[in-house]
Amino acid sequence: MNAPVRLAEHTTSRVGGPAADWIDARSASEAVQALRSLDASGVPVLVLGGGSNTLMADAGFPGTVVRLAFSGVELVEESGSTVRVRMAAGQDWDEAVAFTVAQGLTGLEALSGIPGSAGATPVQNVGAYGADVSHTLTSVQAWDRAAGDLVTLTAAELGFGYRDSVIKRSLNAADDTTPRWVVLSVDFTLHRSGSTAPVRFAQLAHALGVDEGEAAPLETVRHHVLRLRAGKGMVLDAEDHDTWSTGSFFTNPIVPASVRARLPADAPAYGAGQDEDGHDLVKLSAAWLIDRAGFSKGFGLGPDEHGIAGARASLSTKHTLAVTNRGSARTADLLAVARTVRDGVEARWGVRLHPEPVLVGCAL
Ligand SMILES: Cc1cc2nc3c(=O)[nH]c(=O)nc-3n(C[C@H](O)[C@H](O)[C@H](O)COP(=O)(O)OP(=O)(O)OC[C@H]3O[C@@H](n4cnc5c(N)ncnc54)[C@H](O)[C@@H]3O)c2cc1C
Repeated sequence: MNAPVRLAEHTTSRVGGPAADWIDARSASEAVQALRSLDASGVPVLVLGGGSNTLMADAGFPGTVVRLAFSGVELVEESGSTVRVRMAAGQDWDEAVAFTVAQGLTGLEALSGIPGSAGATPVQNVGAYGADVSHTLTSVQAWDRAAGDLVTLTAAELGFGYRDSVIKRSLNAADDTTPRWVVLSVDFTLHRSGSTAPVRFAQLAHALGVDEGEAAPLETVRHHVLRLRAGKGMVLDAEDHDTWSTGSFFTNPIVPASVRARLPADAPAYGAGQDEDGHDLVKLSAAWLIDRAGFSKGFGLGPDEHGIAGARASLSTKHTLAVTNRGSARTADLLAVARTVRDGVEARWGVRLHPEPVLVGCAL
């Protein structure tokens, strides 16, 4: 019998205990076959892509992990300057972005350097630097575990929100470890627009030396996004513990404008629509709230395994939003840091932060 696979070997935080069972699905049909039979037998299932947005319990996973291990990117349709690109669920996302940029296709360049798989990008409507996948994603092909059927979901049906979609909501609603819909492939509609793209994010525009809304060459945008991200520890690097994380541990809180009014004038806030009663909502910066509550870069806790002072886990030394493994952390260490930060922010500002990664078998 093979030794159990440790989830720490398949997650970017490099924590998590053993999985009771493990299947590498090498094609969409292998994935469907595995999901169909596991769901029929009632075995708990965890679908895994790159493990970059999943925090696994130290106790491991008592069911079967189905890793989506099939990749591919293809141009499936071209009409005028519009090109439909299809990515298989297990496709490495950044390789796919690099491919679209090399093809001169506009739309995904600001999402360069995000770890993980293409199939996971619709789950939390992955985004960065003023872009998110909802801007260009047209549909997904998925296995509907509830209906036992293959389905196509359009962007409208995916009900995208900030780091949210119907897929993510199904995960929370069913209190399951895998969403109702398992994405098998994703279609994006991109444009051949003379290799330029409007830059939507002030920091990126500044790095590029253009005004927000101006255009810049795709390759240049990708280069600068990767550079900016690396400076924040947001590009995976095995040698750099600041990147042993799930990226941002907390989402930016969306709160009533009245909450914003209680914060100092320099607290960043962006309009975020209205609630059901017509009250204005604003999105705050979690990084600002954390930093100004006294948790600066590198904030850490706990003695190391030899009892010598020093942290097994800490906030990244490059960014206050990432909770990082300094080399020998367990999930409990990461959660201890995150919990201290969440509670400290709530005590200081009266705003509760919520985790961005999916917590499996553990809680904050
Ligand atoms: C250094 C770093 C930087 C990051 N920066 C960003 C960023 O800028 N913006 C951003 O939005 N995110 C960011 N992330 C988070 C993460 O990279 C993304 O959320 C990514 O899309 C997760 O992909 P994955 O394949 O690793 O997902 P996994 O961790 O494998 O899975 C995440 C969740 O999605 C489910 N899932 C996975 N694949 C599928 C599928 N095919 N169908 C249905 N459900 C599925 C899993 O069951 C799990 O619940 C960052 C993470 C790291 C480590």
